[in-house]
Amino acid sequence: MPRLAVLGQPVSHSRSPAMHNAALAALGLAGEWRYERIEVAPQDFAELVGSLPGEGFAGVNVTVPHKLAALAAADRASAAARAIGAANTLTFSAGEVAAENTDAGGLIESLPESPAGKRALVLGAGGSARACVWALREAGAEVTIWNRTHSKAEALAHELGVAQTRLPAAGGLLPIAEFDLLLNATTVGLLDANPPATAPAPSAAALKALPYDADAIIERHVVVDLVYGSVPTPLASAARSRGARVVDGLEILVRQGAASLRLWTGLEPPLEAMREAARRN
Ligand code: NAP
Repeated sequence: MPRLAVLGQPVSHSRSPAMHNAALAALGLAGEWRYERIEVAPQDFAELVGSLPGEGFAGVNVTVPHKLAALAAADRASAAARAIGAANTLTFSAGEVAAENTDAGGLIESLPESPAGKRALVLGAGGSARACVWALREAGAEVTIWNRTHSKAEALAHELGVAQTRLPAAGGLLPIAEFDLLLNATTVGLLDANPPATAPAPSAAALKALPYDADAIIERHVVVDLVYGSVPTPLASAARSRGARVVDGLEILVRQGAASLRLWTGLEPPLEAMREAARRN
């Protein structure tokens, strides 16, 4: 029976096992394949990856904090994984470890239309922003990066050959009317989307941390929020209420998982089963 898993630390919160096992069941493979979660510390990661093929694993997803180490552990890597400098998917076959970054392709597949020729504003300059900026640029979008720490936006923009921007003045806001696609790859909204069971989710506070006025979002905008939790993020809620097309973090999770499953099984992933399982958890 081929085995699959997500490797991370922590990994107990991951929705990937539920999502992938639902997909395997929908494909009629539940008796043949199974998807597990494995918590592994950074110092043990490379050795664990080396042992997995011998234990029947066909591939793994890799999450925080191992995406850079996953690329380093591979014998070969896709152009996306090399350019992004990180991998979230490893495939074991013919004695080789192959690295892929399905965060990038998953983002493009989640969009309601091609971003080619569109003006995209990406908030953030961390690991996820990096994959998003690369993917959007490759797909033909005109990308501008904003980050709270401006020097990181500058460095990422320089490296990937895109534009960067900063707030016009203290207290100033970015003119989002100039953009078609607004993507949040910061952690803003994470607490709001994961409220403690005892307290209602606050909503306005997170929007204030954004460098633009959420009231300026209009129907023409496509808004992508990588952040997800048990309730919608303030940005996703605000964008939906203004009639914009919204791609939320759970759809992004589903799409990157679907792309990984396609690589491992060669089969077309059952998106609805994956969505249903990802949103149920
Ligand atoms: P990361 O590498 O730690 O980067 C965090 C980013 O958030 C940095 O750009 C940081 O800016 C910014 N930030 C943090 N607090 C902020 C604040 N108060 N105001 C403005 N900016 C702030 O994290 P990551 O791995 O890229 O992940 C980013 C988000 O995407 C997380 O919420 C994660 O859960 C989510 N995510 C979702 C998926 C999915 O499948 N949906 C996949 C991956 C990640 P500074 O540089 O100034 O610190």
